[in-house]
This record gives sequence, structure tokens and C-alpha cells, in this order.
Amino acid sequence: MQGTAALLGARTLMPNAALPTLMALTPPGINVEYALCDENISDLDWNMPCDLVVITGTTLHKKRIHELCDGFRNNGVKVALGGAYASINHDQCSHLADYHFIGEAEYTWPVFLQQWTKECAWPVYHQKTYVDLKDSPAPDWSLIDVNDYININVQTSRGCPKHCEFCDVIQYVGKKPRTKSAEQVMLEVRNAHALGARTVFFSDDNFYHVHQQSDCRDQPAQCPEKHTTDNHFVTTTTAESRKPFASLNMLRPHQILRPDKSFHPFPPLSHFDLIPRY
Ligand code: SF4
Repeated sequence: MQGTAALLGARTLMPNAALPTLMALTPPGINVEYALCDENISDLDWNMPCDLVVITGTTLHKKRIHELCDGFRNNGVKVALGGAYASINHDQCSHLADYHFIGEAEYTWPVFLQQWTKECAWPVYHQKTYVDLKDSPAPDWSLIDVNDYININVQTSRGCPKHCEFCDVIQYVGKKPRTKSAEQVMLEVRNAHALGARTVFFSDDNFYHVHQQSDCRDQPAQCPEKHTTDNHFVTTTTAESRKPFASLNMLRPHQILRPDKSFHPFPPLSHFDLIPRY
């Protein structure tokens, strides 16, 4: 993957939206300063002065999550651990961190920050129901350099009704698809454009069911043409989806997620002129 990123003049595929979403969830009046480390981009500074390290990752990152938790705690730094791996395997992770987040964090992170700043945080924050994505803010990308990434991700939904036996997504975010509103999606697309993103990746667990969401249709046209012409849109979806790539020709909010648009299989491939060098 890193070789492909280098071909495209980036350093990795896309940022993880979890920590920028937590940043955006900081309640008004809470005075915290964030520093963000993406180990795909830069080396970790184990000695960076901080009051708390927040770690997220998927099952794929299990080994590194354990290393990070043990390393920081051995350095005397408090650790908060959340994300898919820590949620699905919470019984095996209770010893890893000072603060353990189980499930999605849109509701628990603001509560934690309120309590942590008053030194009365709980050891475990367990979100037992799935959050309403209308309560999920646009990620705060202020600490990333967009040039490091091929894509900036926009998550329009969570959940997947499929039953792939190897999949941990459905254990973490459930089988019932939940969607953000078209206004939320357009805000995130505009944010990506304002950052200078070359490609927006719709990082849904499975994009196809979004076509069925009626509240994402019939929105008034609000997006100026200049906000759409330079971006490419990419996603992943299961193969039985009806006209699966129709939605990628997204020009206006009322066209988001509406089938029957023309088919744009690839962005221009001029970047691949670089390939012969390798
Ligand atoms: S289609 Fe993808 S997200 Fe859905 S269950 Fe299968 S692997 Fe998981």
C-alpha cells in the first residue's frame, strides 16, 4: 500500500477518522489540546509530554495496540483505549488501559472529557446502543496534512446487513444500516474539498444500502459547481448492489445516493505515468 501511495505522491491511503471525530466531540468549555500521531505518516514520540494518550485501532492492529498501551503505561502515561478491537475484545483488554471505551464513542467521549478534567473519570465507558449518526460530527481534520493521504474519508453510514463470517464490522457497528443526513455528508465533502483532498473515499462498511435511504434524496441543490469539479469519489460496496457505482457521480445533494447516474469507473489515470519509474 505504501508503494502505491508513493506512486501517487502521498504517504498512505487515508487518515483514520476516529480520533479526529473525538476531537470534534470536545464539549464547549473543555480546555484540552490535542496532538495527533498517525504511525503511517510519522514515527511515534514516546516521550512527548502529555496527560493522556488515546489509542484506537481494529483487530488488524491488535499487536501494536498492546505495544502502545504497555509502552505508554510503563512510561507513566495514562491511556484511554477504544475502537473496534478494544470493543469486540473488551474482556481481553481490561488490563491494557486506564480508561476503556466499549462501542461507539459519540456519547461517551464528551462525558469522559467532562469527568476526566474534573479527575473523576470512570475506568469503563460502555455505549450499549448504537448511536444516531445525526449526532456524529464531521471529523476535525485540523491536525492532518492532506498531502500525506491519497483519500480523505467521508463516512455516510455505519452497519452492514450482510453476514460474512470473518467480519468484525458487524460485531462493532451492527447489521442495521444507519446513515448520516445528506447535509452532514455534504458538509464533510466540502470540508474535504477545502482541505485540498484529491479524492473522497466513502468509507462506509458497505455503501450499497445507502441507496435505499430516502432522507438522502430530494435535498435542495446547494453545492456550488466549483466545489465538485476537482474531486474524485471512491467507495466499496458488495457486488449485488443495484448500479453500485451510480452514486459516485455526485454533483448535488439531491443526487447523492440516487441511482441511475452515469457510470464513472475511474478518475483520470495520468498519475500512473509514474509507474514505469518503478
Ligand atoms: S459485506 Fe463487508 S461489512 Fe458487510 S458483513 Fe461482509 S465483510 Fe462485513
